[in-house]
Amino acid sequence: MSLYIEAATILTSTSGSLKSRIYHRSPSSEETPPFKSPPARLYALIVETLKHQDILNEVIANSGILGLERKLSHPLALLLLHDQLLTRGGIATSSGPLKNAVLKHKARLSAEFTRARIRRGHGTLSSLLAAANKAAASKIPRWVRINTLKTAGVEAAIAEGFEDYTAVATIKELFAEDGGKEKRVYYVDPIVPNLLAFPPGAELTTHQMYVDGKLILQDRSSCLPAHLLAATGTGARVVDATAAPGNKTTHIAALLGPGGRVVAFEKDTRRAEVLRKMVARAGGDGVIDIKAGADFLKADPASQELRAVTHLLLDPSCSGSGIVGREEYTLAPLAAAAPEVKGGKKRKRGAEKEKAKEKPVPIVVAAADEAEEQEETKEELEKSRLLALADFQESMVLHAMTFPAARKITYSTCSIHAEENEDVVVAVLAHDTARSRGWRVERREEGTLKEWERRGWPNRCNGDEIVAQACVRCNPVEDGGIGFFVVAFVRDSAEEPEETPAVPVADNEEEEWGGLSDCEPADVVPQTATEAVSAVKKKKNKKRQKNK
Ligand code: SAM
Repeated sequence: MSLYIEAATILTSTSGSLKSRIYHRSPSSEETPPFKSPPARLYALIVETLKHQDILNEVIANSGILGLERKLSHPLALLLLHDQLLTRGGIATSSGPLKNAVLKHKARLSAEFTRARIRRGHGTLSSLLAAANKAAASKIPRWVRINTLKTAGVEAAIAEGFEDYTAVATIKELFAEDGGKEKRVYYVDPIVPNLLAFPPGAELTTHQMYVDGKLILQDRSSCLPAHLLAATGTGARVVDATAAPGNKTTHIAALLGPGGRVVAFEKDTRRAEVLRKMVARAGGDGVIDIKAGADFLKADPASQELRAVTHLLLDPSCSGSGIVGREEYTLAPLAAAAPEVKGGKKRKRGAEKEKAKEKPVPIVVAAADEAEEQEETKEELEKSRLLALADFQESMVLHAMTFPAARKITYSTCSIHAEENEDVVVAVLAHDTARSRGWRVERREEGTLKEWERRGWPNRCNGDEIVAQACVRCNPVEDGGIGFFVVAFVRDSAEEPEETPAVPVADNEEEEWGGLSDCEPADVVPQTATEAVSAVKKKKNKKRQKNK
């Protein structure tokens, strides 16, 4: 049963992408011990279940199973019902209380499922499965940045690797019912130079240009910070404060003018290794100096190496609330997914009416209370976590603002929460460090993203339209990828940059790319966040003990 219990835990968690919740769980953490079930199994079960959650939620609501079986939470019921109703093998365990809780209602669940399937116009199970797969294949295009450290640009890349492909004028034209695996088309992004999109199902990791480091699989929004930073002038000295896995670092390097240099900080040594491989693959060794295991907050801006830095890119750890995987869905609340409230009426009929009678109402009420309390705890935890992350993010930007020769800073997150986005911008602008050193936001019309339509939320910028317009937002899926936020701070005068010693060339071995999201959510990075979260947990536990 651990498969279902672990999968339900993953489903209930809200931070980061599904993949990161499964694959990047710290093996050493006591609070989060490694899962017993194979990660690939967990991933497949969850993805398939979420793919069919609409119909499963209808079955759950109409059968009233959650009111009848207190052992079953909503995520657990979804997962178990998925296997019971949609797979040949059924629930993947020989026995156990959870399996029994479902099997007791086997006939009723099966009848509700058949009704729901037929209501959707599917005479057979295979027709339902095929339709769900078609819908799943068409959400997010496959974005590819042409790495100009290794190839001249879009035209050269097309000529070298995609000559038999056709350009399309809109993103929509990339999508096809099979996910576009066979569709040989590409779309050239009109805003970010050297960025192409392919159909969602396009398999590019075996393409020779990818193997050679000429193509970098990078989400569209992840390309915005380096493009907005625009550190293209001669002799630009750039700091990437939070660099691993390195997509933005190599993008900065590709945009640098002659004599430009990048210093890449990465606090986590394991992630710094991945950064090293990425930089080597992208051909950035000559211009990128990696500071493995180095905390940007401890970097001395007045040091010989850093005092001439002109640009800084800050993409710190965040909640990851904007992350959606291309094969992922999020868990929809049960009530919202059920099409109509039929349960009540149905339960009044015949045998079903008798079944409903067996379970007195207070059980449902108790379950509802518990669910409400859990919801409350989750909200409080989420809020404390966001505020602690925002404190950390603010301190990173303020530290960047103390670099004596810095003229431009970009700040980005893969979060959709205003607490980590506009609120951080407003707090930074109001801080003495920013005011005394002349930092302001780069206005929309001054920057390289003026054509990007979706901007910041004015109500979170104290109604200041200039600040809101300076902020760039990407909505998940709608804007072609993950949810994202980026803004640039500039100042008109800074100390003149001095010459810095040449960047030592990194000593890299070519190894297989290990795979890390470039929007890795915080594990949680700042100590204060961990403390805040455990404080809320303790408070809740105390309250529960008291109520017992
Ligand atoms: N910019 C990266 C990219 O596009 O590939 C993704 C950065 S990820 C969102 C944040 C990274 O910052 C993590 O790898 C984390 O380990 C690192 N980090 C967090 N706090 C840091 C600090 N104080 N100094 C340096 N790195 C830090």
